[in-house]
Amino acid sequence: MRVAVVGAGLGGLALAQGLRGAGIEADVYERDPGIVARFQGYRLVLNPVGFQAVRDCLPTRWHPLLDEIVMEATAEQLILDTQLNEIGKLGAGRTGLVVDRQVLRHLLLTGLSVHTDSALTGYDVLADGRVRARFAHRDPATADLLVGADGISSAVRAELSPRTVPTDTGVRFVIGRTPLTDEFAELSKAYGSKIAGDGISLLLGAMRFRTPPKQAAEQLAPEVTLPDIGDYVRWAMILPPNGSLADLTAQDAVLSRMQGWHPRLRALIEQADPDNSTLLSIRVVQPGERWPSGPVTLLGDAIHATSPTGGNGANTALRDADLLRRNLIEAHEGHRTLLAAVDAYERQMFDYAAEAVHDSLEKLPAFAPEAKLL
Ligand SMILES: Cc1cc2nc3c(=O)[nH]c(=O)nc-3n(C[C@H](O)[C@H](O)[C@H](O)COP(=O)(O)OP(=O)(O)OC[C@H]3O[C@@H](n4cnc5c(N)ncnc54)[C@H](O)[C@@H]3O)c2cc1C
Repeated sequence: MRVAVVGAGLGGLALAQGLRGAGIEADVYERDPGIVARFQGYRLVLNPVGFQAVRDCLPTRWHPLLDEIVMEATAEQLILDTQLNEIGKLGAGRTGLVVDRQVLRHLLLTGLSVHTDSALTGYDVLADGRVRARFAHRDPATADLLVGADGISSAVRAELSPRTVPTDTGVRFVIGRTPLTDEFAELSKAYGSKIAGDGISLLLGAMRFRTPPKQAAEQLAPEVTLPDIGDYVRWAMILPPNGSLADLTAQDAVLSRMQGWHPRLRALIEQADPDNSTLLSIRVVQPGERWPSGPVTLLGDAIHATSPTGGNGANTALRDADLLRRNLIEAHEGHRTLLAAVDAYERQMFDYAAEAVHDSLEKLPAFAPEAKLL
């Protein structure tokens, strides 16, 4: 069996790792010219389901390294005013483990056959039941199964399920990171802090590695190369619709809402790493109609993009990868046909994915009451 995975995000890479571990040939085709081509590094909270899924996709010899690059996310969260006085507690943080997306992505990439600069432009289902994928800058590739793990603007989805399209909630999300120096350590000493401004909040969360990732890999799995990054504070602000942000950088968009705030908070944003700070529109994809069963399927944001307020997009993409992997292994071992395996995956995935998108949207009004809900 040969599987072509389109998209080297968390979902596509986890699937490819899991298939590789089972002796199934899997090639990954990524649009970006390189793996670190743009903003990629932010802190994610993996819930127990997402963490177990990614663990199960990885070879067991890398489990100690995976355990070393995550941090517990169960400490309390503080509410501070804009002058840094404590005014309340949010209770326990979300249960799970905090991980840096870019670090996890590097671990997932190790040993895989990843073709960069390979944007999928379309595909054809062949008479023999296989599928041929077409790319902008490389020759077509033929596989038994094509998996669109190509994110919210999925080119695979555009052909497979053209009526499933992203919806813009109108809400903007600004996120960035700043090296965790002594100056900023107090700001997010617990799992995270919420700075409550006038109608707007700044959310802070520290990423503190047990061991710096590069060093952890050198000690625990020398065949893995992880990025040389240190601890940081992740900051995020949700901006309501209709605000004028034209031509503002991510940092300036946040600073423009922080007039009169404590100088240390403003310094945190001013000293951010611009390559890892960005301004995004919150768009969602709701899984609607099922497509006829065939040698093409979707996973992750390509079929169920959630609002970041749900904190469940990566978790759900990883759950998909593990579920599809398990079904494909059964087909590979002759226990069922490939199409039956894909159908079983899609039936389960559609159920929990719709719930994940719904949950994430339910949490959005707490941050942006004016959001256009779907
Ligand atoms: C700021 C932020 C914070 C978040 N925090 C959390 C969190 O705490 N917890 C959580 O669970 N989720 C979180 N999420 C959501 C999570 O990051 C995503 O849901 C998850 O990364 C989706 O993974 P994916 O593999 O489906 O897609 P992606 O990571 O989007 O990967 C898709 C890949 O496909 C490539 N691609 C696109 N088009 C093509 C093409 N035509 N051909 C080839 N390749 C293509 C892209 O370049 C990309 O590399 C957050 C998201 C953001 C933006």
